[in-house]
Amino acid sequence: MAEQHVYSFGAGAADGDRTMKNTLGGKGANLAEMSKTGLPVPAGFTITTDVCVHYSKNKGEYPAGVKEQVDAAIRKVEKAMGAEFGSTTNPLLLSCRSGARESMPGMMDTVLNIGLNEKTVDALIKQSGDERFAWDSYRRFVQMYGDVVLGVDRDEQNEDPFETIIDEAREKAGVEYDHELSADQLKEIVAEFKKVVKEQKGRDFPDDPMEQLWGAIGAVFDSWDNDRAVVYRRQYGIPHEWGTATNVQAMVFGNLGNDCATGVGMTRDGADGTPGFNGDYLINAQGEDVVAGIRTPKRIEETFEKDMPAAFKELTEIGERLEAHYKDIQDIEFTVQKGKVWMLQTRNAKRTGFAAVRIAHDLVEEGVIDSKEALNPRRIPADDLNQLLQPIFNTADKKSAQDAGKLLTSGINAGPGAASGKVVLTAETAEAWYNKDNNVNLVLVRKETSPEDLRGMRVAKGILTAQGGASSHAALVSRQMGKACIVGAQELNINYAAKTVSVGGTTLKEGDDISIDGFTGEVFAGLIPTSPSEVMQVLDGELKAEESETYQRYSKIMGWADEHRTLNVRANAESDDAAEAVAFGAEGIGLCRTEHMFFGHLDEIREMILAETAETRQKAVDQLLPFQKEDFTKLFTTLAGKPVTIRLLDPPLHEFLSDRHLEEEPGLDEKLAKIAGVTKEDVHRRVSELHELNPMLGHRGCRLGVVYPEVTRMQATAIFEAAVATKQAGHDVYPEVMIPLVGFKTEFENQAAVVREAAAAVFEKAGVEIPYTVGTMIEIPRAALRADEIAEGAEFFSFGTNDLTQTTLGISRDDYGSFMPQYREMDIVPADPFQTIDQPGVGRLMKIGIEGGRKTRPDLKIGICGEHGGDPKSVMFCHDAGLNYVSCSPRRIPIARLAAAQAAIAAG
Ligand code: ADP
Ligand code: MG
Ligand code: MG
Repeated sequence: MAEQHVYSFGAGAADGDRTMKNTLGGKGANLAEMSKTGLPVPAGFTITTDVCVHYSKNKGEYPAGVKEQVDAAIRKVEKAMGAEFGSTTNPLLLSCRSGARESMPGMMDTVLNIGLNEKTVDALIKQSGDERFAWDSYRRFVQMYGDVVLGVDRDEQNEDPFETIIDEAREKAGVEYDHELSADQLKEIVAEFKKVVKEQKGRDFPDDPMEQLWGAIGAVFDSWDNDRAVVYRRQYGIPHEWGTATNVQAMVFGNLGNDCATGVGMTRDGADGTPGFNGDYLINAQGEDVVAGIRTPKRIEETFEKDMPAAFKELTEIGERLEAHYKDIQDIEFTVQKGKVWMLQTRNAKRTGFAAVRIAHDLVEEGVIDSKEALNPRRIPADDLNQLLQPIFNTADKKSAQDAGKLLTSGINAGPGAASGKVVLTAETAEAWYNKDNNVNLVLVRKETSPEDLRGMRVAKGILTAQGGASSHAALVSRQMGKACIVGAQELNINYAAKTVSVGGTTLKEGDDISIDGFTGEVFAGLIPTSPSEVMQVLDGELKAEESETYQRYSKIMGWADEHRTLNVRANAESDDAAEAVAFGAEGIGLCRTEHMFFGHLDEIREMILAETAETRQKAVDQLLPFQKEDFTKLFTTLAGKPVTIRLLDPPLHEFLSDRHLEEEPGLDEKLAKIAGVTKEDVHRRVSELHELNPMLGHRGCRLGVVYPEVTRMQATAIFEAAVATKQAGHDVYPEVMIPLVGFKTEFENQAAVVREAAAAVFEKAGVEIPYTVGTMIEIPRAALRADEIAEGAEFFSFGTNDLTQTTLGISRDDYGSFMPQYREMDIVPADPFQTIDQPGVGRLMKIGIEGGRKTRPDLKIGICGEHGGDPKSVMFCHDAGLNYVSCSPRRIPIARLAAAQAAIAAG
């Protein structure tokens, strides 16, 4: 028997089910599952993702057997629906829909109303007794098919010729909306559409239903490889090899009159997680109307019950059933045809970080899932937690903006967070401004957004649209990107040509300041300063935990994460941010960069740099000791009872003093000459000696300490004196001294000896002994390869994956921006290796380092302190590789805690 390429569903039965996403795509698998559960699903069938893969490898050819299986499946649909595809008396119409394993909203194509031609449209008129409906459907079909399958191009003005024809027809008829056009007017539009096809494509619009269907199936498979789908997959790490399934399904009609509707709803609010059926719907409309933003839809939770009480009740019940079945918030698409509810799609809904936390928390409270399941990365992607830390407007600032009459209008609050910045009207301009200045704050303001705007949306702080509802493209995408977003602010008058946005009497030009509150939907003229979120305020002690439900849920989730994780989470911090790190849950410091402390004492460190002899250097260094001691004491006190890893001086000295400094600060040479007791010429000579062609590979890290042991001695002395002082003040202290950039065992031994000597001297003088360890960064391939040897002396390892990536890949972390975007675009690398660990390369070296180190010292404590320590994928890798802890910047600690729990749960 031939392989099964086609799976039927509908009428209470299905070949597939929800477990078959890989084969049937998410949409197909869930249509099958809903059919099986007895929900009202129009009959149809799914052509598998394997067929897509075969089709795209073989230039549009189908595997053997597909055509026959499709024919057979159509017969089944005909039987279930009691109509016949292509019949001129009782025609069945079909939709043809894309649907991949992971939903890629709006990225691929769908064609509705397939099977219409001059004859079937007549039959549809007779059957429905509704001429306008039939021509409306035909109009939609020719337009969609022309766009999607035939690829009708834009005209010289870059306008969609179909839209131009409709605009003209509306104007001629003196109506505002499509649904106000009469049957005759629609008929005329269809004729004009067909003319455009004939002119552009040199062929007639296809009349044969089977030809139409295969055209649509091919177009859906082709759409897997369209630009925006490829860009989307790259951004969300969806493999290009998966392919999409194609779902062919009997049409049901929401455009058959005022007892019909179409809508998209959610079983809870996707923006903030509030329970209850909500969403958008339109009476007497079809499919894409709701998401396309042509008419602003009505809200389900506001008017649907009044408009269609029976349908509302049925859909609410279906929603509850689906939630119980899938144990998660559902995003459903439905159509009501003459009062009868039809389900067209269900899937686990996309949600903001806020909603994710609330829903996971609530489902545990409701007894639907347990705490382990609540932490599933599908429910709370670890990265999304950062939304809870995102800025909001200060109530007082907002009020004064309000009082000053700055409130322009309001729309639907579609993505939480506050954003203020410059108005920018096109995605291209947004990208251009961002490329000029990465720190610029932009708010993208548009009538509506489409997948073409993705790149511009990414660089904007917030998104504001005049049209569309809570499930429009803008809302979905910004929710996923975690950006502040308001949609459907209908009073906004956007003029792309004049580059202005106006409301009432106020007009903003592109570049003027605007502020949007994605929590409430309010739009303000001017800049309202943003301030920390509720969770941040509680963490900073400005708000009581009891006063913030958001914080309480967040804190529950973090508690569950802590129960499940085995990796410790530390922070990369040295000064004020250390306290913040502790508030975020840091269990220690994984990296204190001592040079950051030096920047406050530039005169002294410069004197040290200028010193020509060991004696003068010692004198300069001695001046630095009290400052370092004070800084370390503060840090140890903040981290009382927790380990603190302090890295000795690391950067090349010219970061403190170079020609650039001398040029930029007139008189600096003179000042330094005086401080160091040398001549101005000496200063310039010394600075030019320090200059390096390749400083990242130059005199830095332990190479400094080896050549200038007095610096190492001073730092170690400061560390241990601080430790003693902290201990004497009654706090436990666990210093871990870390030698940077070690490649040779001898380098480590050289520096460790200086450190241990200093420790002994301090302890003897104080009459106090404090346990401490000396370890090393592993950030040079040689160190990983010789880890067994290095571990003979080193008592801990910390992978410095920023430098390890730089030195393993031979890619400068400061210069890779010139080619990395292109590398990503061309899929030469699967991710930015400085954000996500390059597992096959850098990760391999790490494994070698771990194995070597633990061969010598089975209980060797190993961590990571590169930026990767806060990247969820990299955290997973660290867990699996057997690290003891990850260390990351304070803001990413909640993310690392959750990712560590997710890794532990995944590993079982
Ligand atoms: P997307 O993946 O972009 O949501 P869909 O394949 O779900 O695309 O189709 C978009 C919309 O088209 C659906 O939400 C639904 O309103 C409409 N649609 C699709 N198939 C049918 C059908 N068989 N009958 C009526 N409407 C349909
Ligand atoms: Mg859909
Ligand atoms: Mg380094």
